[in-house]
Amino acid sequence: MGDVRRRLPAVDSVLADPILAHDITHLGRAFVKRQVQKTLTQLRATPPQHPPTAVEVAEIVAGGLPPAPTSLRPVINATGVIIHTNLGRAPLSPAATQAMTVAAGATDVELDLETGQRGPRGVATVEAITQTVGLDVAAHVVNNGAGALMLACFALAGRGNVVISRGEMVEIGDGFRIPELMSATGVELREVGTTNRTHLRSYHNSMDNHTGFVIKVYPSNFTVEGFTTGVSVEHLRHNLNVPVVADIGSGLLRPHPRLPHEPDARTMLRQRASLVISSGDKLLGGPQAGLIIGDGDLIETLRRHPLARAVRVDKFTLAALEATLLGPPTPVSQALDTQVEDLWARAQRIATHVGGNITVHPSLAAVGGGGAPGVEL
Ligand SMILES: *Cc1c(COP(=O)(O)O)cnc(C)c1O
Repeated sequence: MGDVRRRLPAVDSVLADPILAHDITHLGRAFVKRQVQKTLTQLRATPPQHPPTAVEVAEIVAGGLPPAPTSLRPVINATGVIIHTNLGRAPLSPAATQAMTVAAGATDVELDLETGQRGPRGVATVEAITQTVGLDVAAHVVNNGAGALMLACFALAGRGNVVISRGEMVEIGDGFRIPELMSATGVELREVGTTNRTHLRSYHNSMDNHTGFVIKVYPSNFTVEGFTTGVSVEHLRHNLNVPVVADIGSGLLRPHPRLPHEPDARTMLRQRASLVISSGDKLLGGPQAGLIIGDGDLIETLRRHPLARAVRVDKFTLAALEATLLGPPTPVSQALDTQVEDLWARAQRIATHVGGNITVHPSLAAVGGGGAPGVEL
């Protein structure tokens, strides 16, 4: 065995094999070299009977090379969780993927091609958002939902305070807690009410001249049932003299018939939320992004804050988000709208292809990605 190990071909002789020439051009020498080294390490760990030649090793390497020099691999999401956080949340639509490819080269993201002057960044994407919402509102896009919350704290509360119900002190996942993020910006978080009940007077009593805003966080990954009371956005806005920011999490811009309890931006804004914050890559079905929608003056304050630059989105996000909103239905919305009969037929076809003793059983699916808790599909 030790003999076989010593007689494995050298890395360079494998790399020199013509079978890898095209891959080296396409994927880069450094990437292919790493794959050769990995393959040789594997052969050393479990040596074959006869030492393979350089050509044989090159063939093994060539057979395992991916289409692009990335270690991320495409997978089939057969988990029954539509928006799977560990599988990258929402898969992009082909239209959005294509838009990202267009944006990849030099592109007119900040140039007006008519005049040759510098142009405003991201206006078309913002328009796509406000048109989808269908109200006379403004919008801004940042890196993700957490970035949107952070920017709201810095820009609207600064060294002041933000009021939040104890029933809405939410941990999203992987240890990410919304109240901790907000406190980390330096604002004082004033907790009011109890886990199950918060009343208007609790909000009222804890506010002062330094209150930047009241936040409503929609618990996106659990439900509270029984003896509960909260104060609606509408009620808060009607009775309190500060902005009300609604963090709806999952990013539905309009109501979805299959998810009647899921909050959406349009409904929140019609209830006079000052700002609505949500993610781009959950139910919206787009790229990772944080959407901030609402009052024009507040949006302008956020946009002009120095830290807005630190959570600015790149051209890929702008392109993919616009295409997600204006293009055909996203994979997430297609999955949500799939009828049971169609799923059944699909499963039967797969079973037939796999062959053998395979039978199809019904099961329940979930929306996932911290959206629509308790909804069984
Ligand atoms: C997911 C979520 C966030 C965080 O959004 P990211 O885009 O993951 O940063 C914030 N608030 C709520 C309610 C969420 O569900």
